Amino acid sequence: MIDFTFTEEQEMFRKAAREFAETQVAPYVAEMEKTAKVPAGLVKALGEAEMMAITIPENYGGLGLGYTARLIALEEISRVSVATAMMLQVFALGIEPIILFGTEEQKQKYLPGLATGERLGTAAVTEATGGSDPTGIRTTYRKDGDDYIVNGRKCFITNAHIADTLTILAKSEDDPKAFCAFIVEKGMEGFRATHEEHKVGMRGCNTGELSFEDLRIPKENLLGEEGKGLKVTMAAIGDVGRGGMVGCALGLQAACLAESVKFANERILYGKPISKLATIQSKIAEMRIDLEAGRLLGYRAAAQHDATGRASNEFAVAKYFTTEAAQKAAKIAVDIHGGYGCMEEYAVSKYLRDAAVVGPSAGTSEIMKVIIARWTLG
Ligand SMILES: Cc1cc2nc3c(=O)[nH]c(=O)nc-3n(C[C@H](O)[C@H](O)[C@H](O)COP(=O)(O)OP(=O)(O)OC[C@H]3O[C@@H](n4cnc5c(N)ncnc54)[C@H](O)[C@@H]3O)c2cc1C
Repeated sequence: MIDFTFTEEQEMFRKAAREFAETQVAPYVAEMEKTAKVPAGLVKALGEAEMMAITIPENYGGLGLGYTARLIALEEISRVSVATAMMLQVFALGIEPIILFGTEEQKQKYLPGLATGERLGTAAVTEATGGSDPTGIRTTYRKDGDDYIVNGRKCFITNAHIADTLTILAKSEDDPKAFCAFIVEKGMEGFRATHEEHKVGMRGCNTGELSFEDLRIPKENLLGEEGKGLKVTMAAIGDVGRGGMVGCALGLQAACLAESVKFANERILYGKPISKLATIQSKIAEMRIDLEAGRLLGYRAAAQHDATGRASNEFAVAKYFTTEAAQKAAKIAVDIHGGYGCMEEYAVSKYLRDAAVVGPSAGTSEIMKVIIARWTLG
């Protein structure tokens, strides 16, 4: 028999994550919208609540809880702040290559500090010439004795200005088919976080550009085998990246539905709440159907990953469905609010802006379809 229920432990974890989001994250949301900065107090709270530790193995100071727990936490945090969920999602994307491919020394050196939130992580792959196609990147590496010299620029990097430990991808100066993944530390000579983006939505997470000018990286910071860095990066994006965006999208869908239900029950027209109108009921039902379906897809993929260690295709399906559904839900939520939906004091106007940003991260919907078609066609 297929068991679709969460365990008692998972339910308790969800309750704790929801309480954390409502009490520790919610107070920062207005400030983040206004300043587009990640408050230091929020990072500290996330660390203390062990939100950074979820997927890090226990012997490196983490909770070793796996993908279902991570999805629960991201969904609950995203219901309150998609931006904060996004920050956490890319944090995990940055550290997964260390968990999967790191040497014992690298794991001992980086993971405990990342698990407590003392250090923030990120993944830097995208460049102006390499987003959907990471092989198009122009950041290069060359050997210099035992070190590597890296030159190039990255764009659209989450946590760019606040990360201490970054996993980056570079291409060989001599061989366009050879890539290396490296661990870069803030403060290394030649490394700079440069332009800060001003996004239409998810304003409360930091996104920006990075510059590497003759950045000298010691061989101890190479992740996986020299020349095989694309495999290192794609292994993390396939599961952690897509899975994380599912969490962001589910939380946003849930928030859109909750605000719409509240408004529909409170807004009186023709002497009764608009929730009595058949068209409003139809919109609410559509949102509910998409949320239920998205949860089934997302948690199935997460459970599969917990059981087998791999679910990148299943996460592609879930990512496609939930990010599209989040955009649809935000549009419906604004519509249900009538003119109020266009006003900034109503949360749904923010949800619509946030929804515009959940699409491209960790691969666009078109790229998800390419992956799903390849999987299906064999
Ligand atoms: C808020 C935000 C945070 C991000 N954070 C990070 C981060 O932390 N680290 C990081 O490395 N990157 C990050 N990214 C980058 C993200 O991964 C890329 O934006 C994404 O992969 C798309 O790449 P692109 O923007 O270059 O678009 P392009 O690749 O230029 O795509 C343009 C259009 O072409 C379509 N397209 C491309 N290829 C195909 C194809 N084969 N078939 C059909 N259509 C196609 C795309 O779907 C899209 O519609 C972030 C992006 C955003 C918006």
